[in-house]
Amino acid sequence: MKRKLVGIGASPGIAVGTVQLLRWEIPDVPHRIIPDDAIPAELQRFRLAIDRAKDRLRQIRARVEAGAGPEEAAIFEVQLSILEDPDLTRGVEELIHQNIAAEKAFDIRMIESRQRFARAASPMVRERVGDLTDVHIRVLSFLLGLPDDDPVDVAAGSSAILVTHDLTPGLRVQLDRKSIVAIATDAGTRTSHVAILARSLNLPAIVGLRTATIELRGGERAILDGSTGVLAIEPSHADLESYRERARQEAIAEEELRRLASLESITTDGVRVTLRANVDLPEEADLAASSGADGVGLMRTEFLVLGRATMPDEDEQYRAYRRVVEAFEGKPVVIRTFDIGGDKLPIGGFPSEPNPFLGWRAIRMCLDQPDLFRTQLRALLRAAEHGDVRIMLPLVVTLDEVRAARVLLDDAARQLERRGVSVRRDVPLGVMIETPAAAVCADTFTRDGDVQFFSIGTNDLVQYTLAVDRGNANLSSRFTPLHPAVLKLIQRTVQVGEAAGLEVAVCGEMASQPLMAFALIGLGVRQLSVSPRSVSLVKRIVRGISVSMAEEAAAAALASPTAERARRELHGRLRTALPELGLLEEGSTV
Ligand code: PEP
Ligand code: MG
Repeated sequence: MKRKLVGIGASPGIAVGTVQLLRWEIPDVPHRIIPDDAIPAELQRFRLAIDRAKDRLRQIRARVEAGAGPEEAAIFEVQLSILEDPDLTRGVEELIHQNIAAEKAFDIRMIESRQRFARAASPMVRERVGDLTDVHIRVLSFLLGLPDDDPVDVAAGSSAILVTHDLTPGLRVQLDRKSIVAIATDAGTRTSHVAILARSLNLPAIVGLRTATIELRGGERAILDGSTGVLAIEPSHADLESYRERARQEAIAEEELRRLASLESITTDGVRVTLRANVDLPEEADLAASSGADGVGLMRTEFLVLGRATMPDEDEQYRAYRRVVEAFEGKPVVIRTFDIGGDKLPIGGFPSEPNPFLGWRAIRMCLDQPDLFRTQLRALLRAAEHGDVRIMLPLVVTLDEVRAARVLLDDAARQLERRGVSVRRDVPLGVMIETPAAAVCADTFTRDGDVQFFSIGTNDLVQYTLAVDRGNANLSSRFTPLHPAVLKLIQRTVQVGEAAGLEVAVCGEMASQPLMAFALIGLGVRQLSVSPRSVSLVKRIVRGISVSMAEEAAAAALASPTAERARRELHGRLRTALPELGLLEEGSTV
């Protein structure tokens, strides 16, 4: 091969295809002063660019509507309305009349609008920032004569490996599975939402390549290996053969794992470990149900919102939740209320907040938007009539938040009853333990019976404990779930849960990784919620170990001064139990 780019394997699978480069960032705009006599032509150039951008958007809208449906395509309506805003046109034309070239004039006005929208109190207005960015890039591309990169241009059946800086909502709704075989991004890590989305869509993906959009020109042949994070450019015949062989081996291994689906998840010393699935999109429910998972341990409802122009209403949410509940035929389905914000577009401060991970996200945003929250709670209560629904609150740091959510849940139940809809009043309410505050003070949630279960979100727990941004590719080697501080917080949560007779699950990425799952079982966790593809793999770990051995390994890990030492302690012991070590290296982050 000519070159090898190495990032973070984010979604397994091997894809062979052609690099489709998508530069979707706001370009640098030179400051150009124009003479008076050039003003009319400049005004004309600006109007033409707006018209071309509108044509392009209509084209994309029609395409997305035909493929993904009108709800997904609605995002382009919003972008068209921005281009039709007379205030924007007037503002740009004013600057052109002051001898500023069209691209700079447009750039200035768009920056102003974005700042204004970003400061707006209403989340629905702030949400527009992402759309403004898309419009900003599109019109500037026309004005600066840059290529109008767009995944819509990928011809059907062309096996494109989409290489982009990051996946924006506008790009996400255009992902066409018939033409895109894999995704590679400069930004992101295994736990960032591009990665989670790629896994949900079953698209092989590499994130955190940092400079791929600069190093590649587009059109190169490439092999993307979503397990190892290697993007091989211009592979030789021999490379292709060896990857085909690997793909064959992976298929055989997967087939073997599939056979485990119907077997019990029980350790060699007879302890049952419940395995549930993480479901991000309702369409995944059937696949997740056939994975052998004993219910859903985490449904991330924010994916219903991602890339949308408006919030889904109660009926639409109800249908989505019901679909998942029915696919699991009476098994528990833990549905998490909206965790919007942070790296999860589009509502809730991002990208307008300087520090979105410490900002207005998740339960904070929901409690501040009671109408939005009650709508979701009503949809959840209605879905609960069809199975064993449990409601989970994200990013909780204090008992007050749980109590405030409980009040809104009661309100939602009363609203439904007034409509003559019968609702269960005993739907369990649980919290995610994903902040150090929640872990250290876990007992405050159990003391008066405020919560009925815990689920440890290690993606955020690691991020907040170690002060390591989970989405920053430059920090990925420092994102170490086996750090003793993290292990101690997990242990404490398990102990508090056990003392109060509560179920304690782990639904972060840690649960999906063999070595870490081994550690979690040793720490006393008896419920793991993992991506559907990982259910069998983790089951294999459970069936190959004893709890006593896992406890001994976890004690050694807890006593280790560093994550690396903890990893070695666990690795040595797990290797003894399961010598097929190939499995253990996959996705290992420490
Ligand atoms: C987590 O933080 O571990 C988690 C499961 O939630 P999310 O990844 O959606 O933030
Ligand atoms: Mg989280």
